[in-house]
Amino acid sequence: MISTIGIVGAGQMGNGIAHVCAASGHPVRMLDVNQEAIDRGLRTIGGNLDRQLSKGTITAEQKAQTLARVSTGTDYALFGDCDLVIEAAPENEALKREVFRKLCPVLRPDAIIASNTSSISITRLAAMTDRPARFIGMHFMNPVPIMKLVEIIRGIATSEECFVAIRDLTRKLGKSAAVAEDFPAFIVNRILLPMINEAVYTLYEGVGNVESIDTAMKLGANHPMGPLELADFIGLDTCLAVMHVLHDGLADSKYRPCPLLVKYVEAGWLGRKAKRGFYDYSGEKPVPTR
Ligand code: NAD
Repeated sequence: MISTIGIVGAGQMGNGIAHVCAASGHPVRMLDVNQEAIDRGLRTIGGNLDRQLSKGTITAEQKAQTLARVSTGTDYALFGDCDLVIEAAPENEALKREVFRKLCPVLRPDAIIASNTSSISITRLAAMTDRPARFIGMHFMNPVPIMKLVEIIRGIATSEECFVAIRDLTRKLGKSAAVAEDFPAFIVNRILLPMINEAVYTLYEGVGNVESIDTAMKLGANHPMGPLELADFIGLDTCLAVMHVLHDGLADSKYRPCPLLVKYVEAGWLGRKAKRGFYDYSGEKPVPTR
């Protein structure tokens, strides 16, 4: 049974994963490269707990208990007592390899490693470790405390025992699992990103403008957000990176990234985080840019 959980990376995903693991009663060990990154992650957890408190979904006592379950550090020795370590470091294969090189020697031999990667092959990452049978993909969605899904991805060597332990943990975290095979971009991004890319083609070819495309999909397909609004939320650089993974990994021209998406990324118009993407976010309300 998985009790103590380690997290590598206290960023957007790592602190969210730490939050849900601690809130469901697990002792958590969260590591990042420096104290500043750790403090930023802890502040985000505190802020998200405050929001839950003000909505009445948790009590002040639950907030205090959740925070008390999270310990932090910059030294991998932190993970010596973990049953599971979830890797949520940046989406860079060389960097993840370095993380596993430091992580494996300090782990108990029976500990499981999970990666939160959005697009890198689980089988390839597993082969970088000393335990491919106890290595698995656990793909949380952003924002982690709110989104219900975890995609579970088995590498070619992942054992049934490891899979069952992670599936049971997912349930304990209050999430639902969708099981995916280890192919480029798994399920959610395999379907979602080509749709977003097609929305950008629809804009590029002048079939509609930003507002008409988003309105069409919100009211015509009952999507809570339009595809271009969603692209800005995800980050246009991330959208482009996933299209490259699909295009390279499946070698099918239907995955070619839209030239307009490429141009926006080249311009640094990366969406919400850059205050400009398909919408301009510098004012009070987002304004369509085309
Ligand atoms: P992020 O940049 O917000 O966080 C990454 C964190 O890792 C940062 O705090 C950084 O300081 C830290 N870090 C950098 N180098 C490190 C190292 N060598 N060792 C340990 N920590 C290091 O990134 P994120 O959005 O949280 O993404 C993390 C992972 O989650 C990626 O693999 C990404 O593909 C995946 N993911 C992201 C999303 C998303 O919507 N952002 C969704 C699902 C999965």
